Amino acid sequence: MAVKAPRGTHDVLPSDSYKWRYVEETADRICRSAGYKEIRFPTFEETELFQRGVGDTTDIVQKEMYTFTDKGERSLTLRPEGTASAVRLCVENGLLTGALPVKAYYKITAFRYEKPQQGRYREFNQFGMELYGASAPTADAEMISLAEDFIKSLGIKGAKLRINSIGCPECRKGYHKALQEYFSQYKEELCETCNTRLERNPMRILDCKSPICKNITKNAPIITDFLCDDCRAHYEELKALLDNCGTTYEEDPGIVRGLDYYTRTVFELIHDKTGLALLAGGRYDGLVKEIDGKMDVPGIGFASGLERLVSVMEEEGLSFGEEPTTDLYIASIGENALRFSSALARKLRNCGINVETDIMARSLKAQMKYADKIAAKYSVVIGDSETENGEAELKNMLNGERSKVKLDESLAIIIRKG
Ligand code: ATP
Ligand code: MG
Repeated sequence: MAVKAPRGTHDVLPSDSYKWRYVEETADRICRSAGYKEIRFPTFEETELFQRGVGDTTDIVQKEMYTFTDKGERSLTLRPEGTASAVRLCVENGLLTGALPVKAYYKITAFRYEKPQQGRYREFNQFGMELYGASAPTADAEMISLAEDFIKSLGIKGAKLRINSIGCPECRKGYHKALQEYFSQYKEELCETCNTRLERNPMRILDCKSPICKNITKNAPIITDFLCDDCRAHYEELKALLDNCGTTYEEDPGIVRGLDYYTRTVFELIHDKTGLALLAGGRYDGLVKEIDGKMDVPGIGFASGLERLVSVMEEEGLSFGEEPTTDLYIASIGENALRFSSALARKLRNCGINVETDIMARSLKAQMKYADKIAAKYSVVIGDSETENGEAELKNMLNGERSKVKLDESLAIIIRKG
């Protein structure tokens, strides 16, 4: 039997790849507009990085990681997200002891052993932004605005921004207690995983996807009733800043996020129709210390799933920019012309225009059929006399107009002018 792509993975076909590039280039543009620079890091890291950086009470670490032992007996894990690696990169390369803030972004594939379904894959693409060294609410407001601008720049309209503050470890002490008291009444009904969460990290229960746990969660105490004065002031100022720059949001005390080291601000952009999170993020002031052991540098960021963006854009019939096209198809008759054409094609490509020519030794009729199929903007037919004269008729494939042209670099100028 033929080999198939593994469950939960997907291919991107030649006819669709420009859509992905469009989304990625939009991300690049948003990042450039605010001084964020791209970082790249390995596909796999030492397993310990994610145990510490994502947190070992999370779903990701407990159930979803692709962990393996390599031939040197090291435990390695395919990255399930980007933030832990981004922090590791900054710490290891001394970026956080230099000029702050550090503004970085990444475009990665991430790996999670999840149940594949709509918008949920085992290998998926993420775009993420990271900001280290800024603790004021202005940083949170900038990050949230950039996230919203990214989604808006893609043309997606039906996305709602939800925000919450989950406070700091201090405010969470009281909150954990209140949650433990509340959820203890439902010990029998909660799922097995949530029962283990009850002791170690009861906030995780609020993020459970099981319908029974979700229902129990509805009447649970909310974090915003437990915020300390500093965290409350930070949250109030963030909301004032968002109001001031015209960002509409909903407060949702149910958002706690899937990572252990989030502090204060958390946010999600949810797509109306599908209910899927297009993007999610928050502040993680404890993360650098967790990974570095010494330095204490605040951080904030978000990550967005590109599969969800592309599919929502397709469903909504949004534009992905122009599909790349062939400017010129050079057809040839006979062996001399074929050689001439392939040299001309190379010259013109080096002048920056997109050129295709026959590499299948096809008949003229079949070549012209191909030129139609690829929707070439212009075509030219080269036979023996054209080869000798160095001139031919250029045909505009859209309106059928023909004009005499020289078969050299000057052709590139004519085609570029259109
Ligand atoms: P969810 O609640 O949907 O499981 P999450 O909290 O696990 O999301 P994050 O870890 O914050 O998600 O990842 C950020 C973004 O990456 C999500 O908002 C989503 O767009 C995307 N994403 C997460 N997991 C997957 C997946 N398995 N397949 C495709 N995209 C994903
Ligand atoms: Mg998840």
